Amino acid sequence: MVDTDHFLLTARYVVSMDEEGTLYSPGYVAIQGSRIKSLGLVDDAPDEGKRIDYGNAAIIPGLINSHTHAAMTLLRGVADDLALDDWLENHIWPLEAKFLSPEFVRAGTKLAAIEMLKGGTTLFADMYFFEDEVAAAAKDVGIRVLIGEGILAFPTVSAKEPGKVFDHIRNQAEKYRDDEFVRVHIAAHSTYATSEDQLGKCVGLSEELNLPIKIHCAESRKEVQESIEKHDRSQVAYLNDLGLLDTQIRLVHMVWPQDGDWDLLKRDNVSVVSCPQSNLKLGAGIPPIARYLDEGIRVSLGTDGAASNNNLDMWEEMRLAAFLVKGTSLDPTKLPARQALRMVTIDAARIWGMDEGLGSLEPGKKADMVVVDLNKPHTTPTYDIYSTLVYAASAADVSDVFVAGHRVVKEAKITTLDEESVLGEARDWAERIMQERGNV
Ligand SMILES: [Zn+2]
Repeated sequence: MVDTDHFLLTARYVVSMDEEGTLYSPGYVAIQGSRIKSLGLVDDAPDEGKRIDYGNAAIIPGLINSHTHAAMTLLRGVADDLALDDWLENHIWPLEAKFLSPEFVRAGTKLAAIEMLKGGTTLFADMYFFEDEVAAAAKDVGIRVLIGEGILAFPTVSAKEPGKVFDHIRNQAEKYRDDEFVRVHIAAHSTYATSEDQLGKCVGLSEELNLPIKIHCAESRKEVQESIEKHDRSQVAYLNDLGLLDTQIRLVHMVWPQDGDWDLLKRDNVSVVSCPQSNLKLGAGIPPIARYLDEGIRVSLGTDGAASNNNLDMWEEMRLAAFLVKGTSLDPTKLPARQALRMVTIDAARIWGMDEGLGSLEPGKKADMVVVDLNKPHTTPTYDIYSTLVYAASAADVSDVFVAGHRVVKEAKITTLDEESVLGEARDWAERIMQERGNV
């Protein structure tokens, strides 16, 4: 059973991540229904609700994974140590062609959702196929999702006719209009795998339905060079000429921005979603996050899919992003811990236009929060809670998670469904995939 009533949570730290960076220590959060009723110092806590004293712990907003392909958890570790194009064209796409189905997506997304929730991620932006299954799996597990039906120029298993995908997205936008857990965005794959005609249609659909667009961009140096050869301009300039920069577009990766790109990104206030672990693992390069921040370009973080990461751990992304910024700029004062935590909480919520209800702990906002246990050797002592959270803590320190007031993780266990059966189903898929690879 999921607890959904009226809670009063207390802990040594309540890290609000509000605009002023208010920290309550020791603090409380009162939850009523799906929302935060009040928060503050423990001495001011109201005497109401089901009280849970977490003691030496921190209560923080739920983390936001701004880019992943959740169901690819079933392909975790199936092909590693390969270049991006080889990995994608000779391994991932052939396996997807063989195995992708609604059942595959449902099983893989459940696995991903459990992994993310147990690690404190309460919202993820997805890009894949059969996204209604992604929505259903996310709801089963109790995590929020921005679904993104992949838009590709060639027929896919979920869109046999590439043109039909737009009708499908339109239907999804209608279907999930008032859904507590599911929102829709437009997920164009890339400038090399999505056609010019489709990219143009993305602009119209984004304007018509007021939906954000997401696209992989400038991930590898090779794709940037190919764009220059084919279109005589960078991918960012190409997207600009097609009218996409003027929409609510978020560019995923942006490892290789070209000289002229900076002014375009700044002119249209374009946000970047960086996935540093995936970029490093695929040898794509080091994303210039330090320069994005210097130029005032908003950056959030994503894990990318589990086949190129190989986990969905936002703590690792946050820590790596902070270290990359410091290391590449030779300036350790850049991206201090609190700002790094902002990148995966309130700044990410803002990038997705969801900061009215998510991203920080404030009265009236959704009760999406994570309890981090500080009773561990590696989180002791704590002088500065932001330092502990960003530089020392890990996903394994998450003890409880609330989404819309539902206690979906309790004492490090998922409460919404039987985790073991989801793991068993994933292993069954892996068995079939292994057999297929053995036959090749
Ligand atoms: Zn991706």
